[in-house]
Amino acid sequence: MLGKLICRSRLAAGVRAFSTGSRFYSNKLAPLDASRLQINKTSTPKHKLANDQLVFGKTFTDHMLEIEWDAQSGWGVPKISPYHNLSLDPSCAVFHYAFELFEGMKAYKDANGNVRTFRGDKNMERMNKSAERIALPTFDGEELIKLIDKLVLLDKDFVPEGAGYSLYLRPTMIGTQASLGVGIPSKALLYVIASPVGPYYPTGFKPVSLEATDYAVRAWPGGVGNRKLGANYAPCIKPQLEAASRGYHQNLWLFGEEGNVTEVGTMNAFFIFKDLITGKKELVTAPLDGTILEGVTRDSILELARTRLPAEEWEVSERYCTIHEIIEKATKGALVEAFGAGTAAVVSPIGNIGYQGKDIAIPLARGNSGEYTAKFADWIREIQYGEEEFQGWSRVCQ
Ligand SMILES: *Cc1c(COP(=O)(O)O)cnc(C)c1O
Repeated sequence: MLGKLICRSRLAAGVRAFSTGSRFYSNKLAPLDASRLQINKTSTPKHKLANDQLVFGKTFTDHMLEIEWDAQSGWGVPKISPYHNLSLDPSCAVFHYAFELFEGMKAYKDANGNVRTFRGDKNMERMNKSAERIALPTFDGEELIKLIDKLVLLDKDFVPEGAGYSLYLRPTMIGTQASLGVGIPSKALLYVIASPVGPYYPTGFKPVSLEATDYAVRAWPGGVGNRKLGANYAPCIKPQLEAASRGYHQNLWLFGEEGNVTEVGTMNAFFIFKDLITGKKELVTAPLDGTILEGVTRDSILELARTRLPAEEWEVSERYCTIHEIIEKATKGALVEAFGAGTAAVVSPIGNIGYQGKDIAIPLARGNSGEYTAKFADWIREIQYGEEEFQGWSRVCQ
């Protein structure tokens, strides 16, 4: 109550104030407002690459979206302008203390030529949680969705057609205050760039081989592994290189004495087990306990599993399984399949897990993937491309 009163009086005085970690804005701070958008179109449109030339995240569309924020005035005028370099003072907070967060989402062209985004509201929710965690400004997610629509529609010709092809969208926020002082950034830049991308596996599924990693951890209790902060990713490259030197594609991140399986590379991990007596199956993924990234694909798979798989035959569990449980079940024939889930690949079949020098083969009932891995991939693709409506997950850009 006291905190509230203090904040009220500071708000009244027009001063930006803080109370128990949350940010209070004075009336003078402008909210993010899509209706203020200014567009400056390129006069030199880029050549568009053929589908088979697309490399993930290497080429970008003609335009980008930018919105500046500062602590005195709030969110500035949203601007769409030709894709360009940023000019930043070398002392900017982003370069020294990792004031950076990002999102990954995609826009898809449907059979009617409309462009659709998939569950962007979830990305906006997560982006705000990331911003809140590193004291960058939060914003009205619906307004950013409206602005992203405008960017996507302006660069609509860059959205490739065909199953597996899409426009990858990268909303990003950085602290831009020019100062080496470690503190709350007083300036920030939110921007969105877009890259036309092809299917993760152009020639169909390719099962990945994982090294169960216990000598390095991706995230820990009380840490920020559940937020999409740039700072979480660079430290994971060296363990990935080490795994690669032993012939594995990715790390299966373990945590704790028990060897809990957390995530795979930068995807959420799913396992399907079978009760050898009853035949009942269990879809398992790690719980959102603060160390797991809250994947939109993860959430989608759980929701589809709960609504579409027969409840008498399936259990859907958000629980930890350990590497030892996986080895034991694989040995007994009770491990049905395993896959990673994320926006880039949607689902990525797991074919092999190496742990302490031994390899465990994961069944691939359909040759390159398990049966349900392929089913989830199909279900999600049909919704993404607007072939099927499901709970309003796919939204036509307007
Ligand atoms: C982005 C990400 C995921 C997947 O999230 P999606 O929203 O499904 O793309 C999973 N794990 C990590 C560590 C990630 O960064």
